[in-house]
Amino acid sequence: MDVKVKFMGGAGTVTGSRFLLETDRFRLLIDCGLFQGLKELRLRNWESFPTDPAKIDAIVLTHAHIDHSGYLPKLVKEGFSGPIYLTEASLELVKILLLDAGKLQEEEAKFAAQKGYSKHQKPLPQFTQEDAERVFPMLKAISFEQEVTIADHIQLTAYNAGHILGAAIIKLKVTGENQEKKLVFSGDLGRYRDPILNPPADIPFADVLFLESTYGDRVNESIDIDKRLGRVIRETYQRGGVSLIPSFAVGRTQMLLFYLHRLQEKGLIPAIPIYVDSPMAINVTELYKKFVHYHHLGPSLEEKGANPFLHPNLHYYREQEASMSLNHIKGDAIIISASGMATGGRILHHLYHRLPNENDSVLFVGYQPEGTRGRKILDGEDTCRIYGIDVPVKASIHFIDGLSAHADQAELVTWCENFISKPKYTFLVHGEKKASEKLAGILKDTYAWNTICPGYMESFELFSGI
Ligand SMILES: [Zn+2]
Repeated sequence: MDVKVKFMGGAGTVTGSRFLLETDRFRLLIDCGLFQGLKELRLRNWESFPTDPAKIDAIVLTHAHIDHSGYLPKLVKEGFSGPIYLTEASLELVKILLLDAGKLQEEEAKFAAQKGYSKHQKPLPQFTQEDAERVFPMLKAISFEQEVTIADHIQLTAYNAGHILGAAIIKLKVTGENQEKKLVFSGDLGRYRDPILNPPADIPFADVLFLESTYGDRVNESIDIDKRLGRVIRETYQRGGVSLIPSFAVGRTQMLLFYLHRLQEKGLIPAIPIYVDSPMAINVTELYKKFVHYHHLGPSLEEKGANPFLHPNLHYYREQEASMSLNHIKGDAIIISASGMATGGRILHHLYHRLPNENDSVLFVGYQPEGTRGRKILDGEDTCRIYGIDVPVKASIHFIDGLSAHADQAELVTWCENFISKPKYTFLVHGEKKASEKLAGILKDTYAWNTICPGYMESFELFSGI
């Protein structure tokens, strides 16, 4: 028997993760992501899927992020009907993320139609909320470290990856006539010292490893987040202003809540109200309360006063009216709202009201890609266009790095050092070409690993005659 792999995305880029594994009698897709970012990549989302979706037997998802899960609604629409394996926490998270993505795409298509495309060219969303819902009955929950048989010759085990809630490293055991082989997919790996999530599990053996390399060329300097976050909040408070934090709903918001709660507990920032103004962030935070064994905050969620997601200073605002009411607050408040790159959502009305006020602060906590509003504000532009109006930027603008959910180069190498014997091949995936090649070079030069940086649509025969 042979095992073949084809890289249908997530190769030479950080998005569109999807790898097709084939044996003589089974076709398994690892991740089913959307391409994001550059137009040239996004156009791939509109091409027909590189293999007949009806002929894929099953899917395994490493985690819920859209660049790993966002193609699912389309794949189902195009004929995929098998099971989709993922951890219990990923299952709940992926429902939230797919519905949100469907809603955004419906809104974008509507907006494009209003802007007046040709009458015959009605802009269509990639998928709708209804399409997203069609995926839900196919999701099959698995637990960490419990072997699941997905075909008579393929066993699957998920291990904690520490990247976002429920994120998994996937090990597949493929049994041939003569031998058994282990394939390990790192998925996206998290940090070794995350305040909420557990560090990525050590995996001692792999015949073939598929390793992410998002930060293959970058070492994150260690940043004292408490200190920097504390200083901005304190100074804003002293000026009588409000601190506004554009944040991502998954992971980043919960991490911020952890830090803000700890700063308030230690008396390093005043005990002022913290508003979480994003229904999606609220829904995701609920999952942290539900899946306590997926992170290490468990005991503190039970203890009075120790729960960063439930304390008297913390207020969750779901309703639109409640959200708008925050515009009247003049000082003594911290507002967390989405989206994290200020590309859309409720954060826009907050920015519209806060940017012109020199007492207020806007605090970015994640990378702001070129072309986004967030990037323009950070680059020091005098005005910011919101709702068609050039809003003057008078508020004080800050950026706090170090809240990333990705292992950096040093952490990726540390994770690789835990292998007792080196894999026969290591494919560097989920990275820009430069990042993948840098990490490949380190693994090759320092540890004599046999590394490959695959290209888009490239395929390999992993074992012949196992
Ligand atoms: Zn991810």
